[in-house]
Amino acid sequence: MKIFNSHVHTSNSPDCHYSADVMAQAAYHEGASGISITDHCTASNFISFDTYNIAKASVADVKRLKNQYTGQLEIFCGIEFDEMIWCNDYAKRIIESMDFDVVLASVHKVRKCPTGQHFSRIDFSKLSEEDIYTYAGWYFEDVLETAKKCDFDVLAHLTIIARYICGKYGRSLDLSRFAPITDEVLKVLISRGKSLEVNTSEVSNIGLIPDKEILMRYKAMGGELVTIGTDAHIPEKIVHGFRVAAETLKECGFKYYTYYKNRKPQKEYI
Ligand SMILES: [Zn+2]
Ligand SMILES: [Zn+2]
Repeated sequence: MKIFNSHVHTSNSPDCHYSADVMAQAAYHEGASGISITDHCTASNFISFDTYNIAKASVADVKRLKNQYTGQLEIFCGIEFDEMIWCNDYAKRIIESMDFDVVLASVHKVRKCPTGQHFSRIDFSKLSEEDIYTYAGWYFEDVLETAKKCDFDVLAHLTIIARYICGKYGRSLDLSRFAPITDEVLKVLISRGKSLEVNTSEVSNIGLIPDKEILMRYKAMGGELVTIGTDAHIPEKIVHGFRVAAETLKECGFKYYTYYKNRKPQKEYI
């Protein structure tokens, strides 16, 4: 099985300090066959983040590296739209103006949050259990609306809210309480022909995002399209957890995973 990692950040993302050159070099050294560079494009705050120029710089890096690594490593041009639903028209304009191989949609902050904070900055240790479940419910509502209304290829890190509530603050979050809305998200992805990402960034902490149970439900519903993304922000994590994700997918009955070229899913058999 070849490794095609569909979720990699570079210094064109505000939270990554390693150049696209360093990340590509790490992927090549780890024996990956391909990576999709998917820098953050914050649709909720696109003016102060100057996301248009960030996206342009990311695309330019990919074009340059594609030539440099010809025959050694495939480098795909992607983007991770944070909070796409907050400004879907803006996201559409960015997508139309650049040639992406893959578009990721993700949620890192929720519209109903009174402070409007990114949830990585919320201290969940101070919230009551009821408030934690309310907040998580808002997260799933935004994810469902994103899945229904936005133009993307891959829904990134479904259930990532658990990374903060459980992983960072050690609070409990019973995801089975959100099974009905999670299943609705999965059904929308299947009906719209979108991929579900298996994100490995927390594999050593809280496990795969989403977990095996959700992947099995997706498969049972007829879901076929899955990508694997390490969401690497540092070169050391460029392929971290990739094989764990592939093995888990195999155990769930998936015969292949996908990666994207010109916004079309490509199969890689596991
Ligand atoms: Zn993300
Ligand atoms: Zn990411």
